[in-house]
Amino acid sequence: MDGDATLETAASLVGVVAAGDLTARGATREALDRVIRMDASLGAMVHVSAERALARARQLDEAPPAGPLHGVAIALKDNICRAGEPTTCASRMLTGWAPPYDATVVRRLEAAGAVLVGKTNMDEFGMGSSTETSAFGPTRNPWQLGCVPGGSSGGAAAAVATGMVQVAIGSDTGGSIRQPAALCGVVGLKPTYGRVSRYGLVAYGSSLDQMGPLARTVADAARVLEVVAGPDSRDATCMDEGPWTWAPRPIAGMRIGVLTRLVEGPGLQPEVAEALAKAMAWYEAAGCTLVPVAMPELAWAIPTYYLLATAEVSSNLSRFEGMRFGLRREADDLGGTLERTRSEGFGAEVKRRILLGTFALSAGHQEAYHGRARKVRQLLTEAHDRVFRDVDVLLSCTSPTTAFPLGSRLDDPLAMVLSDVATVGANLAGLPALSVPCGFDRKGLPIGMQLQGPRGGEAIILDAGHAYERAHPWWTARPPVAWDLQPLAGGTRA
Ligand code: GLN
Repeated sequence: MDGDATLETAASLVGVVAAGDLTARGATREALDRVIRMDASLGAMVHVSAERALARARQLDEAPPAGPLHGVAIALKDNICRAGEPTTCASRMLTGWAPPYDATVVRRLEAAGAVLVGKTNMDEFGMGSSTETSAFGPTRNPWQLGCVPGGSSGGAAAAVATGMVQVAIGSDTGGSIRQPAALCGVVGLKPTYGRVSRYGLVAYGSSLDQMGPLARTVADAARVLEVVAGPDSRDATCMDEGPWTWAPRPIAGMRIGVLTRLVEGPGLQPEVAEALAKAMAWYEAAGCTLVPVAMPELAWAIPTYYLLATAEVSSNLSRFEGMRFGLRREADDLGGTLERTRSEGFGAEVKRRILLGTFALSAGHQEAYHGRARKVRQLLTEAHDRVFRDVDVLLSCTSPTTAFPLGSRLDDPLAMVLSDVATVGANLAGLPALSVPCGFDRKGLPIGMQLQGPRGGEAIILDAGHAYERAHPWWTARPPVAWDLQPLAGGTRA
């Protein structure tokens, strides 16, 4: 059980179920109870599939506990398709739509024994950094209900932080797994582009999107990645490699590049910088070498990301026209129906992005905007490749600040966008990146540290994160919302 005494992690839960001390049904009931007890004040879940989850758990209790996720409660971000279940992307546009098929990750999780308990709240179509653009209303940060949980996978992060589920699956186009993980004090892993099949993920920016786990511990994130990673004939961008597995290795001798501007500022909350400085000192004492890295190209990352992501949005979201999916608002003719459906179906942020992306792609502007952004993306990718010749991992903040108050950045898109300053680089370059809790600020809000690796280098960032986490078990702290792990620890509840 890797030393953890509670049942908050997938690893410990699987052990307890295998030992016969708890049934999968008991574990699922506990997860559903917690949703009922806590979610009214958080808004993390947008759909709960209680009956289906309990039926699945009953099946699992009749089968031998073979899978690595046997009985583990998992929630899916609401842009991941599960057959017969509402999938809204937190948009009015998809009201009433339920996909007829499962995403590849869904099939793999279920085959490994996971119990899928529902869908989590998010920024509409993944566009945002605070879960405030959701058509369902915002999710609140469990550490301070007046603050945002980050985004766009804010519901996923809040659900894991409060122990409603051991694991949630999020998606990350520019930071949407890692930034909410940091703001809610959990682990978030964005795999290498192509590591996890995107089949069944509603596309935002197809060249940037990856799905990955949010979990309490690094080992849990790795366990889930082992299950969901691997080639898939339904996603041509999947890496053509055999099964991915991880066993932690010692970190002494590791060369850790430190992105100086993203650990010291300017623009960094001083407490974030202090927490990172302590983590760096710890790595040095553990036998790692710290290497300062400037990477001036990173100054272009945000504008490049927003040009490329919005261009892909303008194309990907054109499929929502009121004919095939969800909402339809009839008008006198086809054009009118299309216009009415899209005007009423999409929220303001989504419209802003479609307009921006369409402009960037329009005749006369395409080379100046999209063409140049593509070239800069190439330069950024090469800059990362060069850096990873000299270092094993790259350390930085995940987010320059801790969670901010609800509403405080909604009218300031630039401030919102700057939440992603440390995270978009990994998406542009297709690299794996991990966020690990590394302390709390004076208000009691969690701080996250980001560890990026070379393409295909999930194992090394997990090694680095795991070693740090063992010495600094921040994850065992619990948010002050009402929750109580005693019933589970008390034994069988079947
Ligand atoms: N906040 C970024 C955006 O709004 C990233 C979102 C994401 O990764 N889905 O685009």
